[in-house]
This record gives sequence, C-alpha cells and structure tokens, in this order.
Amino acid sequence: MKRVSIFGATGSIGQSTIDLIARSPEAHDVVALTGGRNIARLAQDAIRLGADLAVTAQDDLLDDLRAALAGSGVEAAAGESALIEAAARPTDWVMSAIVGAAGLAPGLKALEQGGTLALANKESLVTAGPLLMQTARAHGATVLPVDSEHSAIFQALAGEDMAAVERIIITASGGAFRDWPLADLERATVEEASRHPNWAMGQRITIDSASMFNKALEIIETHEFFGIDPQRIEVLVHPESLVHALVGFRDGAVMAHLGVSDMRHAIGYALNWPAREALPVGRLDLAAIGQLNFRHPDEARYPALRLAREVMARGGLSGAVFNAAKEAALDGFISGRIGFTGMAGVVAAVLDRIGSNEGLIDARMSLDNIRAADHMARRLAEEEMRERVT
Ligand code: NDP
Repeated sequence: MKRVSIFGATGSIGQSTIDLIARSPEAHDVVALTGGRNIARLAQDAIRLGADLAVTAQDDLLDDLRAALAGSGVEAAAGESALIEAAARPTDWVMSAIVGAAGLAPGLKALEQGGTLALANKESLVTAGPLLMQTARAHGATVLPVDSEHSAIFQALAGEDMAAVERIIITASGGAFRDWPLADLERATVEEASRHPNWAMGQRITIDSASMFNKALEIIETHEFFGIDPQRIEVLVHPESLVHALVGFRDGAVMAHLGVSDMRHAIGYALNWPAREALPVGRLDLAAIGQLNFRHPDEARYPALRLAREVMARGGLSGAVFNAAKEAALDGFISGRIGFTGMAGVVAAVLDRIGSNEGLIDARMSLDNIRAADHMARRLAEEEMRERVT
C-alpha cells in the first residue's frame, strides 16, 4: 500500500488526484487531506477515503471541520502549523496542490521526510527553486513535476542525457484573450478571464493563463527544475493544447509529448512513476483533429513573459518577489481594484522598486528570507495599486 497525502485536496488538482486514488482504494492508504475554506468537500473526501487526518488552513473553521467529521474517526486540525505537522507525517507520496506561495512550507517539510513530492504548486519552484531541490537532495527525496508541460518534458527526457539537450519548448494555449484586439484587454472582466479555452482549472491559474503570468511562472519552473539556461527555454502559442512540451537535442531531433487536456495524465504519471499504468483519460485522435498550430507569442500582449526573463537574469529572491507581486496583483484584479492589463504594470513596478534592494534580493535563500521578500513585495504591490486607483 502506498501512503499518500494530498495538500490542496479540495481544489482542481486535488480533486483529480482523489479521483485517481479513489479508483484503487486497495493500493492507497490516505494519511492526510488538506483544504482551505471548502470544509464540506474536505470532510466528505476524508471520510470517503478513510484518511487519518483532515486539515483546513483556516484557523476559524476548525469547529466547522470538527462538526463535519464528528463520529468518523478522522482527526481534525487547522492552521499553518497543522499543515506543517501534517506534512511531517510519514508517507510515500505527497501531492503538493495548494495554490500560491502558501504551498512552499508544507512542500519543504514533506521533502524532509524523504519520500516523493508530486509538485503541482509551481510557485514553490519560482519562489525557492534552489532551496527546494537542495532539500530534496539532502533528504534523498524525489520531486516529480505535475504541471502538464513539465511532466511532458520529464517524460521526453526519460533515458536522455541533459548534456545533449539544446532547447526546451513549452507550449501555451494563449488563454481566454489570445484572439482579442489588444486595445480591448484593458476592459476584460474577471468573468471573461476565468474562461479557459481548453483546460478546466482553478480560477487563479485560469486568469494567469489569460495574462500568461502562468507561462511566466512555468519558464522559471523549467529553469529551476531541469537546470537549463533561460536562453534555451522557448514558448510557443499552440491553441489546441495537445502538444504540451518539446525537447530539442543537439542532433536535431525533437521529442514532443502529446495528450488530451486532462490533468489526470500528469497526476497519474507522477502517482505511478516509474511505472506507466492505465489511466482513465481520453485518447488522442489526430486524424479527427487534423491540424496543429503553433506561433510565437506576442510580447506586447503578454508582458509577463519578459518579466520572467528579467527575474531569471536577476536571480536570488527575485522569484519570490515576482510571485508575491503577481499574487497581490491578481487579488487586485479579482476584487475589481485594477484592470486586467494593470496586473503586469503592478508587477513590473514592484520588480523595479525592489530590484535595487540588493540586501533583500541577494539574501540567503531561507524560508524566513523568502517570507520577508514576499511580504515586502505584497506591501509594495498594495501601494502601487492604491496609487493607480487614486
Ligand atoms: P484551486 O484554486 O482549484 O485549489 C487550491 C487548493 O489550495 C484548494 O484546496 C484550496 O482550498 C487550497 N488553498 C487555497 N489557499 C490556501 C492557503 N492559503 N493555504 C492552504 N491551502 C490553500 O487551484 P488548482 O488546483 O487549480 O491549482 C493548485 C496548484 O496547482 C497551483 O499551484 C497551480 O498553479 C497548479 N497547477 C494547476 C493546474 C490545474 O489544472 N488546475 C495545472 C498545473 C498546475 P479551498 O478551495 O478549500 O479554499
């Protein structure tokens, strides 16, 4: 039996993971499930899967969680320290699917236990890539990518020598506004940005796909996970979202990974790795699809891509600054404080303002210093948003 925990169990990735695990209950012993505000779903799944422990990140919801679990035998806990305690419990496999920088600390704690961390939380690699990979090495733990592009790269690289890799190409759907006139983007609403053309995902990553902040995070994720130079990472807009990534080798060969747009493929691959087991995902019918399209992204439409390159050139804690400023700007857009195009402006301004603070950016990469950079970036993003409104 594989002992598994799922962080962010109530979200889109968490639910897809549960879907796979629930299909073979005899093979999985569920240790902990964690969520945020969705107590009903958390309790229901914890009871259904016979988890030892259910944790909500929200301290004020502990009584609700206890009430929902009453008589089930599932232990209830709440708050940030309870998430860390859950991550310290012995397991073989942990899904890291909390959204945002909040996923980092539980992921690091899970790696310290020496098992396998299936990493959907790309923000962990963006904010603290070197720390995360070094913690894995120090404890003999394994990190497996779950982002579809990175799972695709990982699969294309199986058995290959990194020294033979010339370039990595990640694809992007282009998001909700890929065909909108540029001038209309300013007026795009949250509802419009939340409709992804191809993938069903959580709201935050869906909006990040429309702005390509998601792709910006993924470029940095590729750099940190595979240790490849930023100049050798390319992005192509591929509206069909069927080719997830391509790896180009020095002999001119290009290995592409194709599959339908269903995250259960990448999750299932990480769950069963190194084996490949049957998965309940659709099969590609290329003849029915007929045609695959690719084009270079327009950086005027997607300024986030340029910002990602600046962040990689700057290094240090600038990934933590970038991610936190992006999260704050996204909150600002969702709550109606800034417009869609305002997000990139806010993030660029925060990067400019912090860029000259070498003490902060070049500080040692520890959880405390990452938190300090994160807080500073959120404070500056708030200032920028206030200025834009007044
Ligand atoms: P969702 O918003 O659907 O789910 C997020 C999960 O995190 C929920 O369980 C939520 O709880 C929980 N959560 C929210 N805030 C906190 C917090 N502060 N502390 C602890 N838990 C919290 O997100 P997705 O599933 O879409 O994405 C999860 C991660 O996976 C992200 O990093 C995303 O970038 C990445 N990813 C997602 C993909 C997708 O297809 N969705 C594809 C590739 C990567 P609750 O809902 O109960 O409040």
